[in-house]
Formats: sequence, C-alpha cells, structure tokens
Amino acid sequence: MNNFNFKNPTKIIFGKDTIEQLKNEIPEDAKVLLLYGGGSIKKNGIYDQVRTALANVSVIEFGGIPANPEYAVLMKALEVIKTENITYLLAVGGGSVIDGTKFLSAAALYEGNTPWDILKENIRTEKGLPFGTVLTLPATGSEMNSGAVITRAETKEKLAMGGPGLFPQFSILDPQVITSIPERQLANGLTDAFTHVLEQYMTYPTGALLQDRFAESILQTLVEVAPKVLKDPTDYKAASNFMWSCTMALNGLIQQGVPTDWAVHAIGHELTALFGIDHARTLAVIAPSHYKFNFEAKKEKLAQYGERVWNITEGSIDDKAYAAIEKTVDFFHKLGIDTKLSDYTKDYEGTAEKISQRFTDRGWLGLGEHQSLSPDKVEKIVKMAY
Ligand code: NAP
Ligand code: FE
Repeated sequence: MNNFNFKNPTKIIFGKDTIEQLKNEIPEDAKVLLLYGGGSIKKNGIYDQVRTALANVSVIEFGGIPANPEYAVLMKALEVIKTENITYLLAVGGGSVIDGTKFLSAAALYEGNTPWDILKENIRTEKGLPFGTVLTLPATGSEMNSGAVITRAETKEKLAMGGPGLFPQFSILDPQVITSIPERQLANGLTDAFTHVLEQYMTYPTGALLQDRFAESILQTLVEVAPKVLKDPTDYKAASNFMWSCTMALNGLIQQGVPTDWAVHAIGHELTALFGIDHARTLAVIAPSHYKFNFEAKKEKLAQYGERVWNITEGSIDDKAYAAIEKTVDFFHKLGIDTKLSDYTKDYEGTAEKISQRFTDRGWLGLGEHQSLSPDKVEKIVKMAY
C-alpha cells in the first residue's frame, strides 16, 4: 500500500425527509445563491422543500445550468454572485449543478485573468466561496468530493478542476428524490458510479487488501440494486443503497494508498465534448476497449474482479479476466446502455486521431496509473470502441 493523507470535510446528512435540515446548515445572515438545472426540481417538489427550509434566509436564484455545465452559462451566474454580494452557494441538482457550483465557488474568489484559466492551467483551488448541496441524482459523487468537470461549447472542450477548497460544506442526501428520475438517468448514475470504482480499483500493483474489498463491495451493491432501482425507484431500500454507493464510489476513501487510472474518464470527456454523449455512456463505450487493450497489465486484477464480483470460478487467469470484461459489458447492456461509439453517432471516423491530437497538444503524454498510455495508444483504444 502507498503512503497517504486523507481528509474529507464534507458533512453528510442522509435519509428520509432530511432536506428540511438545510436550515441548520446555512448561516442565517448568509446571502445565498440557489443554483439549479433545467427545472426538474420545480416539478418534483424538491424546490418547495428547499424554499420552505430557507424561509428565514435571504435567497436569490439562478436556474438553467445545463447537463455538462456550460462555461458561458456559469459566467452569467458569476456576474450575479458579484453584483449581489453573494456569500453562500447552494447547489440543488445532480453532478452538473454541483460541478457548476464548484466552478463558481472557485471563480468567485479567483484573482487571475480569466476564470477559464482555472480549467486550462489546471489551477488548484485552496479556498472557495462556501457552498452546500442538496443532491437530486445519485451518480457522480460530486456531493462529497472536491472535483468538477466543466464544458465549453465554443471550443468543444470538457476539462476537470479541483482542490481542497472545493469540498461541499455539507450535502443532503434524501434517497426519496430518485422517484422522479427518468430511467435513462438512473442507468447513467449506476454506470458512472460503477466506472468510478473501476478507475480506482482496476490498477496494479496495489497490495491494498482493504481498499480492494471496499471497491468490490460497492460494485457488488450496485449490481444487486441496479435492477431493483430501475424496476421501482420507490423501493427505499434499493434507493438508499444506490445513493450511498454512488457517494462512496468517489469520495476519496477507496483511492487511498492505491494508484488510480482515470484514463476512461479522460477519453470519455472528449466524446461528450465532441458529440454531446451522456457522460456515463462515454465511459461504457471506452472502458471495455481500455481493459482489452491493457489486458496483459491488468489481467490479474481483472480476474480477481471476475471472481469476487461476478463469481467466475472456472478457467485460467486469462479466461476469468476476459469473462469479467464480458460480464461488465453485459451489465451495461442490461441497463440499456450501448457500448460502441457507432451506437451513438454515424460521424465517428477520425475521432481517435482527433482525441490523440488533443492529448498531444495538451501535453497529456501518459495517462493511466503508470502514465504509460501515450496518445498513440489512446488512439488505438478509441478505434477499438468504434
Ligand atoms: P446531471 O447532468 O446533473 O443531470 C442529468 C439530468 O437529470 C438533468 O436533465 C436533470 O434535470 C435530471 N435530474 C436530476 N435530478 C433529477 C430528479 N430528481 N428528477 C428528475 N430529473 C432529475 O447528471 P449527473 O450524471 O449527476 O452529472 C453529470 C455531470 O457530472 C457530467 O458533466 C460529468 O462529467 C460530471 N461528473 C462529475 C464528477 C465529479 O466528481 N465532480 C464525477 C463524474 C461525473 P435538471 O437539469 O432539470 O435538474
Ligand atoms: Fe464520472
């Protein structure tokens, strides 16, 4: 196991009817900007619960943050923060609204030239404007981590940012919110969380026995609850286990002491930036090719995953590893998620070269847990995913 420092300051308030506890978390003298997305919270009652809880606090609203939070929209929110002297941000939404809020938290206190630098130059945020979240969609783990991914339509870019100043102060997780989520987004959430675990687990060498088992238990739980959540989102037992698994998949715990990969996300972000494909679906497209391409290096871990998560007991290490990849693809398909780029766009020729060129231009010359995935290897992986 590698050495590590671990601190996660986000307070989690989990369970039924917990949104009303908002009033205990936000200072009464705060001037709050309530940030939300396309309006689902106004239809499913979450907005009313939030406003009731904040009856005694000064609140201004900014709605319309789109899925894959868009820089140009966020810059309008930044203007509101500045002109209204906002002191506290409250994200009510899924990963897109929470990530957008993290960008604003950083940008509000950023003293450099243009806030885009935070993304372009990968500037870490040590201190941001304080914010909390009410999670409406289990998927990203953004509610308990300090990372964010921001899209810029103008340049077709999707870049990550982060830093210790960007943990939410608190996040409210009421699993009942999932009852209004469309099936497509539930499937996305399951797939995103599943792949987050794989990115931190399917690495070598580790010797981190406990981290392996943490990771495997999250994967097993997601596999167990997936059909139940899709069949009946009012099943509270399934919903609560789904929600907590997504948070645990990316709150820093399982990545301690182990190398992490994240190549699937880095490549997937390009597919969202280029084609607008849902984040989770890009991961389902890239992950199988990534594991096949890196088969020799990752096969011991793939076989362990096959044995422990999918109960594959027969065959050699190679057989088990290969069967584990097949099981993963089958899992995505059962969620209704396609796993080839050509399932999403007819316009895929040249994509591999384009992504490889972008990585070269950015100086991303070695992805993966050993920085060994050069742009030409990335090109091969993307081609395998056509
Ligand atoms: P999302 O983009 O936040 O939301 C997807 C859709 O679901 C939106 O149309 C949203 O509608 C709707 N929705 C959300 N909650 C709902 C509810 N309770 N009922 C009905 N509809 C609901 O989805 P996401 O998967 O959570 O976030 C994806 C983004 O997060 C991507 O940009 C991805 O790159 C990023 N991400 C971040 C991290 C991280 O650690 N920070 C990790 C992985 C991915 P409204 O707009 O109307 O709310
Ligand atoms: Fe993700």
